[in-house]
Amino acid sequence: MLRATANPVDRRGVATGGLPTRTAAERAHRVVEVASLRKAYGTTVAVEDVSFAIDEGEIFGILGPNGAGKTTTVECLSGLRVPDSGTVRVLGLDPQHSRHAVRESVGVQLQEGSMPPKLTVRELLDLFASFYTDPLDAGELLALLGLTAKRDDYYKGLSGGQKQRLSIALALIGDPKVAILDELTTGLDPLARRETWSLIEGVRDRGVTIVLVTHFMDEAERLCDRIALIDSGRVIAIDTPAGLAEREGGGNHMRFHPSRPFDDALLTALPEVDRLEHEGDRIVVSGNGDLLNAVISALATAGTEAKDVQLESATLEDAFIRLTGHPSGNSDEGGER
Ligand code: ADP
Repeated sequence: MLRATANPVDRRGVATGGLPTRTAAERAHRVVEVASLRKAYGTTVAVEDVSFAIDEGEIFGILGPNGAGKTTTVECLSGLRVPDSGTVRVLGLDPQHSRHAVRESVGVQLQEGSMPPKLTVRELLDLFASFYTDPLDAGELLALLGLTAKRDDYYKGLSGGQKQRLSIALALIGDPKVAILDELTTGLDPLARRETWSLIEGVRDRGVTIVLVTHFMDEAERLCDRIALIDSGRVIAIDTPAGLAEREGGGNHMRFHPSRPFDDALLTALPEVDRLEHEGDRIVVSGNGDLLNAVISALATAGTEAKDVQLESATLEDAFIRLTGHPSGNSDEGGER
């Protein structure tokens, strides 16, 4: 019955949303669709033009420097912000027209400042559970997040890592189909970060689609199936972490000492080689594909051998810096915000 009233709105929204036409099977697996999203705060254009789609069961990263428009984008997904233009669909629903249904299905990790300090862990979970028709069992969730021993502690007495885990628990208590996690591991120590990553993988394995906002390369590289790289309110690339690193990171580098001198053209003529540089008596070749074997074979034809070979693959961080012109702000300790 509830669906009977919700569907016409949703169908109308999907039909008029300006999104590409898809088959029913494709739509069933597409959990989030954002097309030409724009949002300004007064004269500050936070999101200029953002489009992406997320499939069921993905961990989808929204990566970008501070101020890129990441939080504003996910706030539009969860219905917390009204877009100026563009289309947002979550589970086929428009978060503005179907607020209740979207809130039931989407869990959002809130930032630390928004919690009442004098409620206990259990009271907070019970409070959040009361917002949903069919919440998860709070005790089981506490066990899953390693917070059982802290259930009667006040929020304000928790450590940074415990607060972070509780915020994840609060995002999951409604048994959401989609969880939006914003700056998941900011402020956590290296061990707690790794534990949190394993936890998120466990949540995904339970069937939850995860939208992960981050400005940490290592986190994105480790957790995300795909990443939308956002800068100045625009998507500048969407790919897997490895795909982005390979495509945009400037290729691989091979350093070696040649056993005897050779003509640079021997290597620069190879399709795998983009660049050759001399670093003292060392040679550095940069390129793509099977660079190592191509270089070694070519050197062999000239009676030369590569000694002390070092290989460096392009990283997501290389891609980030090349695409955005910003340093990544990556660190094991988390950053500001
Ligand atoms: P990110 O999450 O990538 O750091 P945000 O979406 O938070 O980016 O912010 C994008 C831009 O919008 C920034 O310039 C930020 O200062 C501005 N901004 C964000 N929220 C507000 C707001 N409530 N009022 C005014 N400007 C805002």
